Amino acid sequence: MSGRFVVVGAGTMGLGIAYVAAGAGYAVELVEVDPARGAEAVRRLGELWDRGVQRGKLTEEAATANRARVTLRAGLVEVAEGADVIVEAVPERLDLKRGVLREAESRRPVLLGSNTSSIPIAELAAGLDRPADFVGLHFFNPVWAMALLEVVVGPATAPQTTEAAVALAARLGKDPVVVRDMPGFATSRLGVTLGLEAIRMVADQVASPADIDKAMVLGYRHPIGPLELTDLVGLDVRLDIARTLQAAYGDRFAPPPLLVEMVAAGKLGKKSGQGFYTWKDGRKK
Ligand code: NAD
Repeated sequence: MSGRFVVVGAGTMGLGIAYVAAGAGYAVELVEVDPARGAEAVRRLGELWDRGVQRGKLTEEAATANRARVTLRAGLVEVAEGADVIVEAVPERLDLKRGVLREAESRRPVLLGSNTSSIPIAELAAGLDRPADFVGLHFFNPVWAMALLEVVVGPATAPQTTEAAVALAARLGKDPVVVRDMPGFATSRLGVTLGLEAIRMVADQVASPADIDKAMVLGYRHPIGPLELTDLVGLDVRLDIARTLQAAYGDRFAPPPLLVEMVAAGKLGKKSGQGFYTWKDGRKK
């Protein structure tokens, strides 16, 4: 297996996408503007593959081969034309993503993707010359552990681009769903609905956060409760998504006052140490 796979942005998601792409045999170019973050991402990838070897999931040779497949680039100007795939995973800002996608398009990839979790594909495609080749490739965190790839089809996305995205999912070991370009796609729209209602239930003192979560885990076989998931995603991130969905669909997505208050108080979930649960050293107390 060969091919060239370019990932733009070596943050949480870019790192994960690079991990699965290298594991699938692609020559991966990881483009990162912040040199410290780029170096850290390469170090972390090596660490992940070392851990894979220790756990017996990967041979030493495979780990070495994966490591050798990843090249760090300081900018898209360093990327040669004609890659099979370019996926952007830069921060969730329309202007930034549009600029990155235009530059990525100038490198003439076969498939151009965005890992956006909330921005409409149509809006991202607005400045592109070849929007037919552009598609949403919404991976989930951590990318190596999450099977789902949400393929988001914009109004200008060509059918063969969607087919290529579905084939890419298979090569990366992911299981795709194909979703029309609507705010919140499939996952955020449903997931946030549950999370917001759970937060309203905390405010109504229906039960403790732990018991609300337990009800969904034991009663509905969810792997994790909606409040713990909100802590993992980040309360600020969920608040932003709720506001985006409120603007699109109306007040059924209005953020509960408790969520707004917690974010204002710096209670952002796992990353701040406090959300619906208290977190220490990356673990729920
Ligand atoms: P992040 O902040 O961890 O990483 C973004 C990286 O992009 C940073 O390292 C930043 O330095 C780099 N960057 C910024 N501008 C750049 C440029 N012009 N060229 C190259 N690199 C640049 O962000 P993240 O959490 O990885 O999120 C990235 C995208 O993935 C967002 O669109 C987000 O909505 C989406 N997403 C995130 C998650 C998640 O759980 N974190 C899940 C699904 C989708």
